[in-house]
Amino acid sequence: MAAHQEKKLTEERKQQNMQNDTKASQGQWGRAWEVDWFSLASILFLLMFAPLIVYYFIMSCAQYQCSLTDPLLDLLKGNKHLSDIWNRTPTLTYRAAGIYSLWVTFQVVLYMSVPDFCHKFLPGYVGGIQEGAVTPAGVVNKYEINGLQAWIITHVLWFANACCFHFFSPTIIFDNWIPLLWCANILGYAVSTFAMIKGYFFPSNAKDCKFTGNFFYDYMMGIEFNPRMGKWFDFKLFFNGRPGIVAWTLINLSFAAKQQELYGEVTNSMILVNVLQGIYVLDFFWNEAWYLKTIDICHDHFGWYLGWGDCVWLPYLYTLQGLYLVYHPVQLGTAHAVGVLMLGLVGYYIFRMTNHQKDLFRRTNGNCRIWGKKPEYIECSYVSVDGTKYYSKLMTSGFWGWARHFNYTGDLMGSLAYCLACGFEHILPYFYIIYMTILLTHRCIRDEHRCCSKYGKDWKHYTAAVPYRLLPGIF
Ligand code: NDP
Repeated sequence: MAAHQEKKLTEERKQQNMQNDTKASQGQWGRAWEVDWFSLASILFLLMFAPLIVYYFIMSCAQYQCSLTDPLLDLLKGNKHLSDIWNRTPTLTYRAAGIYSLWVTFQVVLYMSVPDFCHKFLPGYVGGIQEGAVTPAGVVNKYEINGLQAWIITHVLWFANACCFHFFSPTIIFDNWIPLLWCANILGYAVSTFAMIKGYFFPSNAKDCKFTGNFFYDYMMGIEFNPRMGKWFDFKLFFNGRPGIVAWTLINLSFAAKQQELYGEVTNSMILVNVLQGIYVLDFFWNEAWYLKTIDICHDHFGWYLGWGDCVWLPYLYTLQGLYLVYHPVQLGTAHAVGVLMLGLVGYYIFRMTNHQKDLFRRTNGNCRIWGKKPEYIECSYVSVDGTKYYSKLMTSGFWGWARHFNYTGDLMGSLAYCLACGFEHILPYFYIIYMTILLTHRCIRDEHRCCSKYGKDWKHYTAAVPYRLLPGIF
């Protein structure tokens, strides 16, 4: 009898532990369940000011030759009123609405209706149907990876038009830049609002939804983890990659075309920005299957942060260097140009190799070679919402032995190179490196907080083995 009671007690304790683990993972894995005042204040700040920041940057270029201080000085000295600036801002036009609708529709068609063929003939490229990571509810989603193909088709058509057909001017994006901003905002707000309503009323997977009860937090950080329409239209994959990132290189090409039209030449700085950012974009699509395992897809829920961010913030602020160079055509000296190129390429190499090492390590479950040796790692475990225990490994070899996020360091070096290509006359093109430093440092801390909650003491072993975050010996 006593033995029977002991067994029952042990079973109850086991159940209790399982529930606690589940609560812990529900509470900490992915975005937060409870909102502290600091997060709420940051979110309200961003919701109110991020659209204004984008407007301010673009308006400064259009009306003040990219000076960030002159508009403020004009307003403070009373030379201008807000209404003067606003009245000079182009409004939404039917033409821009038509261009934007066509653009988004075309990208939806490429995403949904053209199965990937690139993986059939490009050696080493992983495309077609791929699996994402395990979600907190234990779901593994399938994705149609065809972004590289969408990028190639779009750019072939762009060049065919520019060289042969001449249906529209290659400067079309620059010429409609502000009217297109209003269209991008409409889509950004529409998709974020729709995602919120969908999260409440018809989520794709109810177990992967998070509600804090705070409207603003839920709107900003998202409720649904992987919202989908039908089986294949995945909001996160579509909105992050296309229309935003496919557009990135086209926007830069349009800026280069504008330089050619205005000054009769394209400067070496504009070529550098086009090439370095082009490599980054192509890399993204070449590795789109890898992207399924990054934080955006694995941990972030889909809200305004991703929806509006992908539609507006990314295409408008990541392309500031090209826009700046239309207003200030900088011709760099040879040493400066080579320095920028080298910094950009070395940064890209570190970024790519670090990401590649982790991807290879995770794909082969550690059965691979990193820098010619078997990788070293720390064994770790975590529990999903349904209480299932999973095992994983944290690598301590290669670039992952130098710092815990050396991929961010490489990314930051590349970002700095784009900015340095613009010379030193104005602060505006340097917004990107300032923003990326804040974004990636915050992301690093956010990711580590999540990993610590997910892996517990195993994470502590890992941070003891690799003590620095971004810069070995410094931070
Ligand atoms: P990472 O690719 O660094 O992924 C972090 C995750 O990797 C962790 O959550 C953990 O996930 C796992 N991990 C951490 N340490 C190890 C280790 N030692 N060994 C094995 N796995 C580990 O981060 P991101 O997804 O943020 O970034 C991907 C790339 O995208 C980066 O290069 C970044 O620079 C770039 N990026 C660019 C942005 C831009 O706007 N240009 C924005 C954001 C990112 P798990 O739970 O699986 O253990």
